[in-house]
Amino acid sequence: MIISVASGKGGTGKTLVATSLALSLKDRDRVQLLDCDVEEPNDHIFLKPVITRSEPVYIQVPEVDEGKCTYCGKCAEVCAYHAIAVLGEHVLTFPQLCHGCGACSYLCPEEAITEEEKEMGVVELGQSDGVAFVQGKLTVGEAMPTPVIRKVKDYVNRDGIVIIDVSPGTSCPVVQSIKGSDFCLLVTEPTPFGLNDLVLAVETVSELNIPCGVVINRAGIGDARVEEYCLKENIPVLLTVPLDAEIAHLYSRGITLVEGMPHWKESFLELFNEIRGLVDERSRCFKW
Ligand code: SF4
Ligand code: SF4
Repeated sequence: MIISVASGKGGTGKTLVATSLALSLKDRDRVQLLDCDVEEPNDHIFLKPVITRSEPVYIQVPEVDEGKCTYCGKCAEVCAYHAIAVLGEHVLTFPQLCHGCGACSYLCPEEAITEEEKEMGVVELGQSDGVAFVQGKLTVGEAMPTPVIRKVKDYVNRDGIVIIDVSPGTSCPVVQSIKGSDFCLLVTEPTPFGLNDLVLAVETVSELNIPCGVVINRAGIGDARVEEYCLKENIPVLLTVPLDAEIAHLYSRGITLVEGMPHWKESFLELFNEIRGLVDERSRCFKW
């Protein structure tokens, strides 16, 4: 089972949920935690894994031989990302925008484009107290997280429970991270901002046809509109974590919730049981 932990907005407690869920389950199943928030991975701060392997991530970017080029403009026409442009008798490439799809070199009529490897980031693998750990790190200054996320997801091992910590927002990196999940947990806070971003996140997971449930973090700071929205849309609220100075203190010291306050482990196990129930129910519906 693959469970993504996402949120429409940053700072809602996604890491708190992903790490505590992983640690709660490790005694009863094989658990893997993938940190796909590659622009700012922080699960490692809490799990303190021993990293045993590190692999660079490359994409192929175009290199133009202007000696062969006739400046026909086909490469610029075919590039959906505006990563190559033809201006008069010059071809300009913008490797930071390139997705490495290879279309320009494939379609160049003069075979004037070759591809060269460009390092985008790194994937690190390790272990943390019984949890298999994988994280991606995008190189500072690079603008394209998706190749690094793809590489992290190459290590998904469906033999156990896979928890994916997704970057905040609803853009391409989020879609890349949650694609293929059996369930998506949306972590939010009960504020107007939290509700606004939750609505966008629900739209994204609905488009991908992935069932979802909500975790309300810092309950008590805002109003009841998140719960009212979930009720209206028939989205289950699976866990509520209160606004609590002790929880915030643990977080600031890099201690997971279930390590600092072990009684929370039961709540995370119940959360998982509810997710399993929802996933099983859905697969039964599809069979019918
Ligand atoms: S498609 Fe090839 S020949 Fe045409 S402008 Fe681009 S690099 Fe030059
Ligand atoms: S490889 Fe793809 S994304 Fe990169 S410049 Fe060529 S067409 Fe554009």
